[in-house]
Amino acid sequence: MGRRKLGPGICVHCLEEVEERNSDHVFPESWYPDSTPPNLEKWQVPSCIPCNSDYGRMERDLLIKLGLCLDPYDPASASIADKALRSLRPSAGHNRHDAEHRRRKGQSILKQALVGDQIPDHGIFPGLGDRWPDISGERSAILVPKKHFERITEKIVRGIIYVEDGRLVQQPYKIEFFVFADDATNPWMAAFDRCGKVYAREPGIVVRRVVAEDDGLTSLFEVKFWRQFKTYASVTADGDADTLSADG
Ligand SMILES: [Zn+2]
Repeated sequence: MGRRKLGPGICVHCLEEVEERNSDHVFPESWYPDSTPPNLEKWQVPSCIPCNSDYGRMERDLLIKLGLCLDPYDPASASIADKALRSLRPSAGHNRHDAEHRRRKGQSILKQALVGDQIPDHGIFPGLGDRWPDISGERSAILVPKKHFERITEKIVRGIIYVEDGRLVQQPYKIEFFVFADDATNPWMAAFDRCGKVYAREPGIVVRRVVAEDDGLTSLFEVKFWRQFKTYASVTADGDADTLSADG
């Protein structure tokens, strides 16, 4: 899978001016489910090589952990859930070395997993909770660093602003990450429903955005992954996202 080489310029992620860039998928290429229409145009942005590799590593790891929590029967996530399982199955290995790599990765995820009473009531990501009726003692939970949800959300926000508006998110603007328990208690929901722009690459990702008219950059973002869970972010110059959701 060769990445498209681009010349010198600014990296959309770290904002550094660099000599060499390549093209990075805003929604990681391997995260598009098999049910994605074949000629869908995928969002791509110019990235420096270190950012691209760094995100690539995180995205591969995160995809496996999320894949283990996704619905294996929903067409939006079936191939992702399957891919996650296969990547941990030695018998799916292409050779002995690959089989061993898969076995180790599976063991490391199992070692970190929580089972039964170890699973706390709090901290379960909304939309990624229990998928089946509770079978006592057989519940298990995968640990996913919160930082990874933050990083992938920030990347998608930067990427969409670049693709849609040709703009970079630079000082004094900053991106903050949010999670809401559900739509009913989410204070931003009315604003999204009333005036959210929609950027979709279905069924993998649907993004809604409320954007301020005066600067065209201050925004609220809702990112929905595989129709199953959502993350949120604000882009503000003064850290005050409430003006956008309250007015209008
Ligand atoms: Zn960079």
